Amino acid sequence: MANLTRDFFIGLSNNKILNANAKKWGFKLGADKFVAGTDINSVVGVVKELNKHGISCTLDNLGEFIFDKSEAAQAKDDILEMIEKIHEEKLDCHVSLKMTQLGLDIDQDFCINNMSEILTAAAKYDIFVNIDMEKYEHYQKTLDVLALLRKDFTNVGTVLQSYLYRTVDDLEDLKDVRLRLVKGAYKESEEVAFQNQEEIDANFIKACEIRLLGDTFTSIATHDHHIINELKQFAKENNVPKDNFEFQMLYGFRTEMQYGLAEEGYNFCTYIPFGNDWFGYFMRRLAERPQNLQLVMKDTFYTKDNKLKKSPLIAGGALIGLFALWRIKKKKD
Ligand SMILES: Cc1cc2nc3c(=O)[nH]c(=O)nc-3n(C[C@H](O)[C@H](O)[C@H](O)COP(=O)(O)OP(=O)(O)OC[C@H]3O[C@@H](n4cnc5c(N)ncnc54)[C@H](O)[C@@H]3O)c2cc1C
Repeated sequence: MANLTRDFFIGLSNNKILNANAKKWGFKLGADKFVAGTDINSVVGVVKELNKHGISCTLDNLGEFIFDKSEAAQAKDDILEMIEKIHEEKLDCHVSLKMTQLGLDIDQDFCINNMSEILTAAAKYDIFVNIDMEKYEHYQKTLDVLALLRKDFTNVGTVLQSYLYRTVDDLEDLKDVRLRLVKGAYKESEEVAFQNQEEIDANFIKACEIRLLGDTFTSIATHDHHIINELKQFAKENNVPKDNFEFQMLYGFRTEMQYGLAEEGYNFCTYIPFGNDWFGYFMRRLAERPQNLQLVMKDTFYTKDNKLKKSPLIAGGALIGLFALWRIKKKKD
């Protein structure tokens, strides 16, 4: 059942029509639990509140499925506006972005130009820019573009996913690059990726330990308390300076633990997504953890004093309808 649910939501996250339509819907299906706002002005307060508690942030102006240069140029302008805002408001915050958002699938040189403009603006204010890692089909391209950008910029890094077999080998080439390590959010084939959770977890720990013993800053991005505890212990035993790494979690997840880690004196960074292009991101979060679905269903159907809501029934019904359609399609295939 868990795999079925995961496949279902990953399938939805890849659906271009639903992604395009969701931009017009506004936040639905409880997306506001995990997406902090619709534009940069609506998330400044969220960042300031976290900063007050010693938590830094990374902002992601969500964007996927961009196949048009004008949309990619708009995404670049939005990110430039975000950088200005981070500076103006003196936020303790860096930038996360996806290169497909900036035209990687349209024209690589165009994407590199967009990235260069962003990195130049960010460097002026000493702001770091992290390139999220997307599906495997973009993996090598992302690393190639990163290598080109690093000839001119030092304020850029990326993400490695421990479900990929090649991750530990790639660490060697990227040993001087600031990295975020994650388990991986997409559905990848067994030709390139571990399918078994224990193997993915073991590879995650191995990659983190290699990085912790090195000199370059690493973001350990997971909500998994077993792994966090194991790595805290490893860092202590090996005298890894706390300034060499941080923990990262997504906005809306395990908030108490986020505050707790910061209070313990660890560097902590919350990843804050915002914007109208929320559908793919939100569906991947539902894919990762069936409990997230229960959480948003509860918010969708019930008010805070546990009374049944009426209008959101349509949203909940739509979700169940989509699931039924997907099941029928699967059977036909
Ligand atoms: C900051 C950040 C950035 C990311 N960037 C990328 C990226 O660029 N590319 C990419 O492919 N993926 C990215 N991801 C997603 C990542 O790859 C995983 O899909 C996602 O984090 C789920 O894996 P996990 O390690 O958090 O825990 P899981 O493997 O989902 O969970 C492991 C265990 O942790 C506990 N747990 C997990 N979540 C919760 C919760 N909410 N409440 C209570 N217990 C919980 C449970 O015991 C669970 O069994 C990012 C994740 C984070 C946190």
